[in-house]
Amino acid sequence: MQPKDLLQLADEFGCPLYVYDASKIEAQYKRLTEAFSKVGELRIHYAVKALSNVSILKLLKNLGSRLDTVSIQEVQLGLYAGFPADKIIYTPNGVSFEEIEMAAKLGVQINIDNLSVLEHFGAKHPKVPVCIRINPHVMAGGNSNISVGHIDSKFGISIHQMPHILRIVENTGMHINGIHMHTGSDILDVEVFLYAAEILFEAAIHFKELDFLDFGSGFKVPYKKDDIETNVEEFGKKLSKRFNEFCKEYGRPLALAFEPGKFLVSEAGYFLTKVNVVKQTTSTVFAGVDSGFNHLIRPMLYGSQHSIENISNPKGKERFYTVVGYICETDTFANNRRIAEIHEGDVLAFRNAGAYCFSMSSNYNSRFKPAEVLWKDGKGILIRERETFEDLLRNQVEVEM
Ligand SMILES: *Cc1c(COP(=O)(O)O)cnc(C)c1O
Repeated sequence: MQPKDLLQLADEFGCPLYVYDASKIEAQYKRLTEAFSKVGELRIHYAVKALSNVSILKLLKNLGSRLDTVSIQEVQLGLYAGFPADKIIYTPNGVSFEEIEMAAKLGVQINIDNLSVLEHFGAKHPKVPVCIRINPHVMAGGNSNISVGHIDSKFGISIHQMPHILRIVENTGMHINGIHMHTGSDILDVEVFLYAAEILFEAAIHFKELDFLDFGSGFKVPYKKDDIETNVEEFGKKLSKRFNEFCKEYGRPLALAFEPGKFLVSEAGYFLTKVNVVKQTTSTVFAGVDSGFNHLIRPMLYGSQHSIENISNPKGKERFYTVVGYICETDTFANNRRIAEIHEGDVLAFRNAGAYCFSMSSNYNSRFKPAEVLWKDGKGILIRERETFEDLLRNQVEVEM
């Protein structure tokens, strides 16, 4: 998208505003499918939690995507968006047994990541096919917040507990139709991922009735200039080759599944904010925008560096700014960042605002959640209205005091 398109949308729909470029989502989807074109059956399960707007889900459905869900509500959203139950995988962590049963009843693929749950579920519903989430104990990412494969992670069943898994499966007679791993959010190194894949293959060989192997996600996308990103093409070539070999060892073809969230939608998203104030202090220049961590929390929560562009003055002389929000707490979006000269009233565009941005937003400080717009075929389509005062009062029970 061009700065002028974004500026026009800011004008038309107001700020703060989330904008998603449909063609970028399509391009990423295509890139992934092409990288794995040598695999007999590739299944892409879009991770709903990254961006859960129903129109985005429908767009992905039209591309041929399936869904990855982590809560019964995400399952319900997927069904509402028109996904058939058997195209949805449900990978919860720490949810109630009743919720897992509810998902099974809806007909979605269950993925279990806990031995006690596996045993209980297998005993009660031996006929329902189940996928098992393995923890291969491979650190894929650098940031311990987003690496989920390490030894003390709460996710997955340890690969070292394989004998116990096998005993449960044998005792209950349950049907294991998939093996899954999701090692973390960053595949920085293809070789590390391939190493984890070998562990998954070793686990898979124990199960005779598999339909698929699910490699989770971890595709890294660039946030700032010079950021390394997953080389999807190289990764596709290497893993496809090894996967096809494994299918021969296994004795029949299996489907290869992924669950990308960030890879599909991160770069498609822009977050547009208006500068309310420019404030000089003794040490910096603050640009204060009409948003805060209520709308975009990743910089404060994970230290993510979303690049910021002044689309009102794209050719302006660059200066150093500290970009902050209007929340009555420290809410720094960017520190000491080079941005084209900012004036009050300018519109700043944050990049990589597609994944884990709107979906992590809140009403803190009693602010409305932003509107969302899909940019498709050169037009902006409103896919979520900005909240209003009524939304803040919804579900509040007023009692006489
Ligand atoms: C969050 C999540 C994903 C998506 O991760 P990304 O880094 O956004 O690609 C995939 N699978 C599971 C089980 C998840 O919890």
